[in-house]
Amino acid sequence: RAEVQAKSLALSEVMTSAGDFYRQQLRAAQNAIAYLKGRGLTGEIAARFGLGYAPEGWDSLRAVFPDYDIAALVEAGLVIDKDDDEGGRHKRYDRFRDRIMFPIRNTKGQVIGFGGRVLDGGEPKYLNSPETPLFQKGNELYGLFEARQAIRDAGYALVTEGYMDVVALAQLGFPQAVATLGTACTSTHVQKLLRQTDQVIFSFDGDAAGRRAARRALEACLPYASDNKTLKFLFLPSEHDPDSYIRESGAEAFEREVRDAMPLSQFLLNEVVGDNDLSTPEGRARVQFEAKPLLQAMPASGLRLQIVRGLAQLTQTTPAEIEALFELVQPVAR
Ligand code: ATP
Ligand code: MN
Ligand code: MN
Ligand code: MN
Repeated sequence: RAEVQAKSLALSEVMTSAGDFYRQQLRAAQNAIAYLKGRGLTGEIAARFGLGYAPEGWDSLRAVFPDYDIAALVEAGLVIDKDDDEGGRHKRYDRFRDRIMFPIRNTKGQVIGFGGRVLDGGEPKYLNSPETPLFQKGNELYGLFEARQAIRDAGYALVTEGYMDVVALAQLGFPQAVATLGTACTSTHVQKLLRQTDQVIFSFDGDAAGRRAARRALEACLPYASDNKTLKFLFLPSEHDPDSYIRESGAEAFEREVRDAMPLSQFLLNEVVGDNDLSTPEGRARVQFEAKPLLQAMPASGLRLQIVRGLAQLTQTTPAEIEALFELVQPVAR
């Protein structure tokens, strides 16, 4: 067992040591192993993602950091320091206790944060590291380090909501999957992905929250949508997420969903039509009203023109009228 003695440690060293510790602890944790097996995970995939287990105790990390008082542990979000101490027992205690640990790595492979899942129905189901100088949730994608080569090989990246989605997809033949960290997909996420690949397929949960996530991802994508990038949206049945879907229906069924994923243009038009009545002028005007900010967020491109044409058709106008109405074309100076 590696003991880390230094008084002040760099955040990254603290995170690495903690990750090693949690991984070691998983080997002996029968309940945690049983949990992962129960969810269909192999030891091989658990090792690939460096999965671990945070033991039950309040200060298990003392085993790694005998100097439990160092500020870096609190700064790293591994230890919680409570000012007010009425009960008097635990002034400092481990943030993660009795949880399956998912290390979050940056693109260099360094552990910068953790997600921890309860083994039972406890709350909260997932606990994430707080933001630290190393870890900004809106910037990071779970699994990107592990998925990089697979994204190149597949020619596309899959974006999911959850840790388990990434790990299950990787095990069942889709190692090109990453996850947003329980936050909305941001434009930073989109930019990061489009630096690695020309095609991104969003595959969120089939429930209402997943649909809202897809809508937000659409909005995050628009500024980067261009003619040489392909952005698609895969919608699963409402009771499923990628993990449950691929386990129940198999890799071939998921592959079909990938192949049939909805292009951004179609998703955008579906969104703006919503349940508006296209047979009335008011309904058609409302659709244009919904579309305006979305089209204004897109750079001029062939793709934008195609969407404008689609919108013109739906709303019984012409592309030129839409462009003028949305101020997509600058008036020509005379
Ligand atoms: P599982 O399959 O293990 O039950 P999930 O990934 O399907 O989990 P969801 O409820 O769909 O769980 O949530 C998606 C993601 O959102 C999680 O993987 C996690 O990153 C994040 N998340 C969920 N619940 C919480 C929470 N209470 N606090 C912080 N993040 C959360
Ligand atoms: Mn969900
Ligand atoms: Mn799930
Ligand atoms: Mn889910």
